[in-house]
This record gives sequence, structure tokens and C-alpha cells, in this order.
Amino acid sequence: MQKLINSINKLKKEKNAIILAHCYQPVEIDLVADFVGDSLALSQKAAQTKADIIVFAGVYFMAQTAKILSPNKKVLLPQIEAGCRMADMITYKQLIDFKSKHPNIPTVCYVNSTAEVKSECDMCCTSSNAVNVVKSMNAEKILFLPDTYLGKWVEKQLGNVEVITYPGFCPTHLQIRPDDVEKMRIQHPNALILAHPECHTTVSEMADYVGSTTGIMNFVKNSSHNEFVIATEQGVTDRLKRDYPDKTFISIKDNIVCPNMKMTSLEDILNVLENETNEIFVKEEIAQKAVKCIDSMLEVSK
Ligand code: SF4
Repeated sequence: MQKLINSINKLKKEKNAIILAHCYQPVEIDLVADFVGDSLALSQKAAQTKADIIVFAGVYFMAQTAKILSPNKKVLLPQIEAGCRMADMITYKQLIDFKSKHPNIPTVCYVNSTAEVKSECDMCCTSSNAVNVVKSMNAEKILFLPDTYLGKWVEKQLGNVEVITYPGFCPTHLQIRPDDVEKMRIQHPNALILAHPECHTTVSEMADYVGSTTGIMNFVKNSSHNEFVIATEQGVTDRLKRDYPDKTFISIKDNIVCPNMKMTSLEDILNVLENETNEIFVKEEIAQKAVKCIDSMLEVSK
């Protein structure tokens, strides 16, 4: 493996490239990554660099977001087949249908959506800022997509906005069932249960803390607690175990993995860096509209 890492690092330097790794990637990808984190934060960090090439170890919509925020950089996705099953649940046409069924209602899209979908929405959000974004719209009703569970969680936090959700979901997070939470409470009575808002509503209601990947990581960082049950993708548990060896982390159940996130290998990264293949393009008119949707979110998240 060291030979692979050395070859990647050498090429990175020669080509003035940076590598971004989402927290759900196989943990060894971090060994060559310049930044590790949530999808939007990674794209923002990449945009601030002077790199010529961005290699995004993640899924398709993430590489699209990186391209939208860095239109003059070359963005490469190590595994071109790696899509987000949630983002793929709503196409541009399905969005238009959804909007026409609920006319004149502002539309918020989760960052886990394609550039085409973003281009037709009023504001984007992440799982960290979704509550503030919806609140900032000062509307009685909001259309929220694609994730129905994040949308319903936001509605519950605010209490005074009707959030009409598109029926999308994350198949990985939906594997976590209320029974799993109950079982963990019995098996690990001293542990705090930390869940991602893409989980089923009942799971979120039963958790001790609900937050984004960064939110969960910060919660652990600032907590004096020593034992945690993690109700999100396995990559988060793996990184927490690595970063806090004195604390105990238990994945809520085996195999909570996003298969598409786990497609990337170090060999794939070397391959795209060498050959500059799997380049991501976003049509100019789509990118211009999608960037507006992202910028409106950044404006209220300051
Ligand atoms: S974990 Fe779910 S939301 Fe995240 S990339 Fe995979 S399918 Fe998409």
C-alpha cells in the first residue's frame, strides 16, 4: 500500500492536484487526502485552494458540487459509477412535477441532489444547516427534497413551518430500525446514541443527539462521555475509533455501509490522477443557476 500512496503523492505534486475524501469513504483513502469531511465543506475548501485538479473521493453529486464551486479547475471522480441512491431518486423532470403539484411554495433541496435539480430550487441546505435555511425563508410551507426524513426532522425542530417532502430517502440510513436502538440501549446502557437526520423519524426521536457527520464528530470531541453508539454510515464510526482510541464507539448494527461510497480504492485515485479520466462537467447554464441556490444558502449560514 505504501508504494501506491507514494505514487499518488508524487503525482499530486507534479500535477498540482488535491484529493478530497468524504467521511463515508474507505478509511485508507484518508492516507492520501488533503481534506476529509462533509461534502459541501470539502467543495468549499477545494475552491479556496490554487489547485489545478480536484480528485473527489465521494459520489457523483459531490464532484458536481465541487465543479460548480470551482468552474476553472478540473474535477475527477475516481469511480464514475459511484452515484448517490438518494440523489438519484429525483430527476429534473420529477422535480418539475413535484413543484407543479404544489405551486408557489419555496423549494429547498438537500445538497445530496444533482446540479440539474439544484438549478431549479430556491435554496440548498446541508444536514448541518437545514433548520436555519428553512427558518430563514419565513414561509408557512416549504417543499423539501429529496430526503423526506431530513425534511420531517426539520419540520419537527421548527414547529411552525409545514415541510412538504418528496418521498426520497437514503437506503443506507433506513437500514437502521427502532429495534436496533432499543437493543443498543439494553446492551450498552451507558452509551449515548448519536444519529444522522437521514435516519427514520422514530430512530431520530429515540437518539440522544441528532446531527450531521460533522455535528456527530464535534459532539464526540466536546463530550466528556466515553461510550457512543453511532447510527450513521460505518465510515464515521471507523474514523471516530481511529481519532479517539481511548473512547468506545459501537456501530448501531453491522454493515451500515453505503455501497457506492465504498467503491473508491487507492488504485482508482492513482488511475484518474495518472490519466485524468472521469472528468466531471456541468453545463454552464445549469451551473450558474445551481450556484445561486448554493450561494443563497451560504448567505443565510454566515
Ligand atoms: S449514504 Fe445515502 S445519502 Fe449518502 S451517498 Fe450513500 S446513498 Fe447517498
